[in-house]
Amino acid sequence: MAQQREITELGNPVLRQRAERVESISDSEIQELIDDMILTAAEASGVGIAAPQVSEALRIFIIAGTASPRYPDAPETETKVIINPEIVSVSDELEKDWEGCLSIPGLRALVPRHKSIRAVYRDRNANLVEEGFSDFEARVFQHEYDHINGVVFLDRVESSLEIVTENEYMKLMAPSDPEEEE
Ligand code: ZN
Repeated sequence: MAQQREITELGNPVLRQRAERVESISDSEIQELIDDMILTAAEASGVGIAAPQVSEALRIFIIAGTASPRYPDAPETETKVIINPEIVSVSDELEKDWEGCLSIPGLRALVPRHKSIRAVYRDRNANLVEEGFSDFEARVFQHEYDHINGVVFLDRVESSLEIVTENEYMKLMAPSDPEEEE
């Protein structure tokens, strides 16, 4: 049975180290870790989670598939388990959009990311996959890929003026009520 794990927060050294490659994907410990990460991301309404966020310095992350209350505009896609990834190419085009992080609660910021990327990785059955990601999925991929290299989204913010609290972010995103616009 999968178990929810405690999420590490900014200041914990595990979030700032380069995570290690996974040598033996079929090990029961690794498979349990993957199941626990999927559950932990779902319980926290995250769109992704990386192993260092549950205190494991390993090159594994999840791109969660279901729409999340924290990201209501996220497209519904299948959950992907990404192991030992390499980004092989990126689009020149960058796009700035809002991000948050389960390890940095209460903040959102505008982060520039490549609009599309191509990556190779192993899935949880150790199959080698080459895949292109674009838009929202590419953003989540780049955010999680940063985590396994000890980088967090605030490192990528261009101006501190583009950091807001989650409460203010919710106000920014809320559809404006016409009756209050007088
Ligand atoms: Zn994060």
